[in-house]
Amino acid sequence: MTTKLDVRISRRCFFASAGAATTVALVMPRKLFGQDEGLVQTARRTAAASTITVQKLRGNISVLLGAGGNIAVLTGRDGKLLIDAGFAGAHPKIADALASISPDPIKHLVNTHWHFDHTDGNEWLHSAGAAILAHTNTRKHLSTTTRVDGWNFTFSPAPPGAIPAEVFDDQRTLELNGTTIALKHYAPAHTDSDISVHFPDADTLHVADTFWNGYYPFIDYSTGGSIDGMVRATEENLAKVTDKMIVIPGHGAVADKSQLTFYRDLLVGTREKVAALKKQGKSLDEIIATNPTAATDAKWGNGFRSPKDFIGDVFQGV
Ligand SMILES: [Zn+2]
Repeated sequence: MTTKLDVRISRRCFFASAGAATTVALVMPRKLFGQDEGLVQTARRTAAASTITVQKLRGNISVLLGAGGNIAVLTGRDGKLLIDAGFAGAHPKIADALASISPDPIKHLVNTHWHFDHTDGNEWLHSAGAAILAHTNTRKHLSTTTRVDGWNFTFSPAPPGAIPAEVFDDQRTLELNGTTIALKHYAPAHTDSDISVHFPDADTLHVADTFWNGYYPFIDYSTGGSIDGMVRATEENLAKVTDKMIVIPGHGAVADKSQLTFYRDLLVGTREKVAALKKQGKSLDEIIATNPTAATDAKWGNGFRSPKDFIGDVFQGV
């Protein structure tokens, strides 16, 4: 069992490694991007150099940080269950990290949504033995050509082995390794394919990319996301979270209720400010010039989404 102190220590270690040039989450400093290269290409190109941190949480649950979206791992006699697949290029390092946790074979993979930093590893994990389960819209987006304007990138259909063989629409409950795993679809939030993964016995909740801890979030309007959907999903998360619950965000350090509450206030506060100014007829540039996120920019604005990007994402939806 991991104490709160252990989590804090690990969190510090993660942030130390997150500053290294080799870190390839979607929290990569923008200066690392090549002149003619977009985020998707850069993330895929540099994935092999990613630094992966393994953090033990509660019971037989661990999390891998640094290989794309956060990867939760449940071990036991039924084999490993992975929540998300990370970048394909990080395959050797993810395989090493998984082996360091336990010798159990890889048997199950759940995708929290369709984005490439959570599904690029689907193909190799399927080859390694994982049956893939996800929301219906994850299969839909992975099966077809899908454009994401916010990344200025059009994704080709994923290879057959990477497509979830099994899907669900609203919720699904799994019984594996002596515990219950409850999967629940969010109304469209970050995308239209987001799900939460609840481990009630370990009081642990993976909330996918509805929560970016310590970084302004990306909101994918191209596949159903919106600021209002993000706020709704965050309220839903807060309604579930207990004082001792471990909250696994899609990106950033493992968190608890206080950090989720701070994030909710950040989303709601920014939405209110931007909506009021837009209603007055102000343009996006004029709103950016008022520095509506000034109080959090130093900490939250250094990742994948700059303050301008985040304000733009909010502006688009109010
Ligand atoms: Zn995402």
